[in-house]
Amino acid sequence: MTTEGRSAGEAGALIKAAYEAHRARIKASLVLEYRCPQRGCLLLHVWLSPAGLMYYNPAPRLLAAGLLEDADPSGLPLECDHMRIYIARDVLGMVLEKVHPGTPVRHVIW
Ligand SMILES: [Zn+2]
Repeated sequence: MTTEGRSAGEAGALIKAAYEAHRARIKASLVLEYRCPQRGCLLLHVWLSPAGLMYYNPAPRLLAAGLLEDADPSGLPLECDHMRIYIARDVLGMVLEKVHPGTPVRHVIW
């Protein structure tokens, strides 16, 4: 492992810790949730924060969180031990047009 890989891992741990710490508040303003069909692993959370739409992507090799508008413009990988797909930003945008904070749309990918 390079130093770069290790610091990415440490950043991932911080992201995860911050997400866990704010989970109750995130849940209350959740707008979108993707889970895997096999074990229900969390693939993506999107919620409304005062700063705008935020996302949390727990994909093991990527583990990322932040403002959705700052995320990779091409899309986001949804990934767990059981599956791996890619959701394009325009698809995500279409889904997000129909959601309301606090009554999240839950998607199970199949
Ligand atoms: Zn899974």
